Amino acid sequence: MLLVLIFWLMKPGSVTAELKIDADFEGGSVEVVSISDPDKTVIVKPALKKGRGFPCWWYFRIEGLETGQTYSVTVQSASEAYRESEILSSRWALPLQAALSFDDKEWFQTSVGEPGENSKTYQFEAKKERAWLAWGPPFLPATAEKLLEQAKEVLPDAELFELAETRQQRSVKGIRFGALESSNSKPFGIWVQARQHAWEAGGSWVGQGFLLWAVSDDPAAVALRSKAVVHFIPIMDVDSVVEGAGGKNAFPRDHNRDWDDNPVYPEVRAAQERIRYLDRQERFDLYIDLHNPGSSEQDVYFFGPDLQKVSPLQLRNYQRLQECAFGRIGKLREEYRFPSYVKDNEEYNRMSGTWVKNHTAEHVVAVTLETGWNRPEGTRQGYQQVGRELGLSISDYFSENPRRSLADSE
Ligand SMILES: [Zn+2]
Repeated sequence: MLLVLIFWLMKPGSVTAELKIDADFEGGSVEVVSISDPDKTVIVKPALKKGRGFPCWWYFRIEGLETGQTYSVTVQSASEAYRESEILSSRWALPLQAALSFDDKEWFQTSVGEPGENSKTYQFEAKKERAWLAWGPPFLPATAEKLLEQAKEVLPDAELFELAETRQQRSVKGIRFGALESSNSKPFGIWVQARQHAWEAGGSWVGQGFLLWAVSDDPAAVALRSKAVVHFIPIMDVDSVVEGAGGKNAFPRDHNRDWDDNPVYPEVRAAQERIRYLDRQERFDLYIDLHNPGSSEQDVYFFGPDLQKVSPLQLRNYQRLQECAFGRIGKLREEYRFPSYVKDNEEYNRMSGTWVKNHTAEHVVAVTLETGWNRPEGTRQGYQQVGRELGLSISDYFSENPRRSLADSE
């Protein structure tokens, strides 16, 4: 009997590597529910990281694949409460297609996920013995570092800087470039940042598209750099990104509800200080915070202030930014949206865009750009295109001086 068993185990073709799953790397998140080698199926969930916000981000490695075979990955949504008694709705964790890579660098998409009960099943053909799967193409601090260095190579005058050290002593990096040594002593000031919500990796990819356009030799980018200084931060909540956490609704505070006089996150305080400094120098004009929205939103849109409540000068500038972007950014909604889901004024004032609007000159425009992810364009290329189009929109916007008085615009 033992001999038979040994013989069977040694039979050619029967010795296949076992499927193994792990997420023990930066940004990784997975809870394995089950693995079936013979069926080539795995069932996983995003890991629940208590206190670290929405459990919707997942990113793991699977090893022991047989090349040429088709595998099924079922992702279930987290069923436990992520804070107090709140269970996150499954739609946040289950994109139309999952991101797939065979080297953790180039990302493709799986088949369109087959919906089940609080789950989706994605299929892919193994091109190599191991693969990485994720909610969307990951953008990690290492990706940010490479991007910033690439931008600096293209534009050697650009300055790389550390915005802050996070609560867990990680570095939040940024880049500053443009009319740094301008003959015009008051160049325009533009601040673009991404990833106040760690799971919204698409925001960083939009930022990448924007940055690579902004440092390029596109004549509109060259013209913009001659009259403006751009600050760009690819990842704000570095801690949650590294830990593979969702970040949104984190304890003690959501990153984008931390903008008051006593921020919890050092990077929020540092951004506030720099923005205030620029504003005091009369060198600040535009703030853009990059996000991914809810799962049902398949387009791109700006969140702005309630335009019924802004001054005529602000109305002119907000409308102008929207007009410059409409028709440029594919699938951009025609109108601003107002974050009506925010429960009261106190909370509304702690959102970064509101804070910037409340603490800077009247002409400053502060918006959030939400780029839909649950759509075929929810890829690196799709996001980067939105970023380039955002750059062109910004360059149009600054073809007029947003600081001019109302009388001058008539
Ligand atoms: Zn967000």
